Amino acid sequence: MLYVRNFPRPRLAVSACLNQKPVRYNAQTVKDEFILRLLPYCEVIDVCPEVEIGLGVPRDRVIVYLLDDGFGLSQPSTGLELTERMKSFSESFLGSLPEVDGFILKSKSPSCGVSNTSVYKDREGKQFHSKGKGLFAIKVLEKHPMVPVEDEGRLKNPELKEHFLVKIFAIADIRESLGKVRRVKELMDFHQRYKYLLMAHSQVKLKEMGRLVASTKEENLKESLEKYRLLFLQALKRKPSIGQHANTIFHIFGHLSSRLKERERAHFYKLVEGYKGGKVEHRTLIELLKSLAYRFDVDYLLNQAYLEPYPAELI
Ligand code: SF4
Repeated sequence: MLYVRNFPRPRLAVSACLNQKPVRYNAQTVKDEFILRLLPYCEVIDVCPEVEIGLGVPRDRVIVYLLDDGFGLSQPSTGLELTERMKSFSESFLGSLPEVDGFILKSKSPSCGVSNTSVYKDREGKQFHSKGKGLFAIKVLEKHPMVPVEDEGRLKNPELKEHFLVKIFAIADIRESLGKVRRVKELMDFHQRYKYLLMAHSQVKLKEMGRLVASTKEENLKESLEKYRLLFLQALKRKPSIGQHANTIFHIFGHLSSRLKERERAHFYKLVEGYKGGKVEHRTLIELLKSLAYRFDVDYLLNQAYLEPYPAELI
């Protein structure tokens, strides 16, 4: 029987102009195919910081400029100084958010840009200084250091997109699943399901989490869950290298190799070498491992988040 995973719904805060509301300076939206496909799988909280601080639609250009101790926001055509308004809106909006699993913001924007926002030396926006971030995005990164924060521009990079998807579905899973844990056994089951995904991200954290789970008793379950959640988020922070993926793939293959013929094993090793050399895609190896797990009925592997970290339709 085909193994069907029930995916959680990541809760994302998203710039409202991305496929949703015509709130840009020119009263348009921004069309983005990937975000259009992703959002139906998510619980979306949309926000347009510039509308929220009282700027109209359409509106004149807003810019980021340098201050002695950070960055400011202004509207050169009207002379409006917007720094304090944007900072105070960002504080109150982010403070009132429920627990979120990630952010997708609009690139280049003086408010939302996570990357490529033009920063000027002066509040009239005449002298370009450098590329940086928008004021709202700066606050998001400061207040939510443990969840992924990306913009639609960076998500065009396939590796960043893959890592973003893995993280938002894993973080949503820990938010939903750990909230329901009442017994140590349920924490053990969760940890087992994420063993290889955690291994790919950080062997050190995986061992630390393993020790934590092993030492958890019913009496200290609540305390352990909080520690476990933090370690989980820390483990997912860094994108796994090719070497870390290859190592994880070998560990998974260890459950299957003794049931294969010598020629099949040799073929697998050749594919892994191809992956390390950039000639074989990671997905090819994952699909091969899944096929083998089906062939030998290894439910323990089919249950692993590493083999299907997010809905296949999003690939
Ligand atoms: S980039 Fe941000 S501030 Fe600008 S229109 Fe989009 S949501 Fe509003």
